[in-house]
Amino acid sequence: MINPLKGMKDLTFDESQRFVHIITTASTIAKRYGYSYIETPLLEQTALFKRSVGESSDIVGKEMYQFIDKGKNDVCLRPEGTAGVVRAFVSAKLDRQPLKYKFYYYGPMFRYERPQKGRLREFHQFGCESFGEGSVYEDFTIISMIKDIFDALGIGYDIQINSLGCPACMPPYRDDLVAFLSNIKEELCDDCKRRIDTNPIRVLDCKNKSCQAKLTDSPKLLSQLCQECDSDFEKLKKLLDDADINYSIDTNLVRGLDYYSKSAFEFVSNEIGAQSAIAGGGRYDKLVEFLDGKPTPAVGYAIGIERIMELVTMPKVEREGIYLGAMSQEAIDMLFPIASRKRQEQKVTVEYAPKGLKAHLKSADRAGAKSIAIIGEDELKDGKIWVKDLETKEEKVITIKEF
Ligand SMILES: [Zn+2]
Ligand SMILES: [Zn+2]
Repeated sequence: MINPLKGMKDLTFDESQRFVHIITTASTIAKRYGYSYIETPLLEQTALFKRSVGESSDIVGKEMYQFIDKGKNDVCLRPEGTAGVVRAFVSAKLDRQPLKYKFYYYGPMFRYERPQKGRLREFHQFGCESFGEGSVYEDFTIISMIKDIFDALGIGYDIQINSLGCPACMPPYRDDLVAFLSNIKEELCDDCKRRIDTNPIRVLDCKNKSCQAKLTDSPKLLSQLCQECDSDFEKLKKLLDDADINYSIDTNLVRGLDYYSKSAFEFVSNEIGAQSAIAGGGRYDKLVEFLDGKPTPAVGYAIGIERIMELVTMPKVEREGIYLGAMSQEAIDMLFPIASRKRQEQKVTVEYAPKGLKAHLKSADRAGAKSIAIIGEDELKDGKIWVKDLETKEEKVITIKEF
């Protein structure tokens, strides 16, 4: 027997229905916000992720699903969605248009990590990327969209926001932080010791409790924001307040990726064990330039599908369609023209084996059909069909032509 690869899994029945419900709901809402669908390749040049996600990140450093293909190209299965969408935006030269572009995507992402509960090597994300809009109104609008999606899916959440500053105010803050961290270096975990040199900001969201305890007195970027970043952050808070959207400020919310600036946000849930992020995003005004495009402000987010799978309230399954059957072999063939006609407008289940009425009723119930139609011995002679609505229990015998 050939099993799926380690860290990869099949979605069937309840899980695949949940998956489809999440994607359908999120796509519908994204379209209402003016987003159009974009499909980008699963496989990209490794250089794309090294440049955009950053060599110092765990994703690129440890978790890339990277290999050399038969043409000796260094390629990588995408570990996240944003880099590919930005690459596509630049490839299509959309950065040279004075227009605003909004895209949504969904699909599998790959990270070669040690598989553990809730962490697969192939997992799925739904995401949105908005290009060309530098206004903080767009950050607010995107947070509202995620809220709408989770509300529609019946998922509870807390919203956390932060500002990551800009090229004017982040570097001086980074210097202050490095000075602070260097003093307590010996008390930090090995990862954080390394991060002081490679990506000091990432120390702030170290999952290690003892590291977190040492950061209480660390310098805070929010008190060092430049005037523009500060007024944008104040505006974002006011917009959320005015919309009655609850949030808290988390100065240690820095996101795992290097290209974020200004607004950063996360939707977190307490319902899946320890508090964990079910969606995250923010502004990444520098990424398009990083990938050789013209400077283009951008903001986006991604939702982790597997993380919310169990949290979704599924809509009640309604009975639908018709179950067609016959009681003699002779009548079976007559079912197919009826099925073909009825399928133009609804779900049709055809039973190929002749059976008694009781057995048919059982099968129709199992198929979740709303009505059942059977050609019995008498009906066959008269060119008729027996029809019963399984909800109202109403039944009738009519000509096949009428049905
Ligand atoms: Zn700034
Ligand atoms: Zn640490």
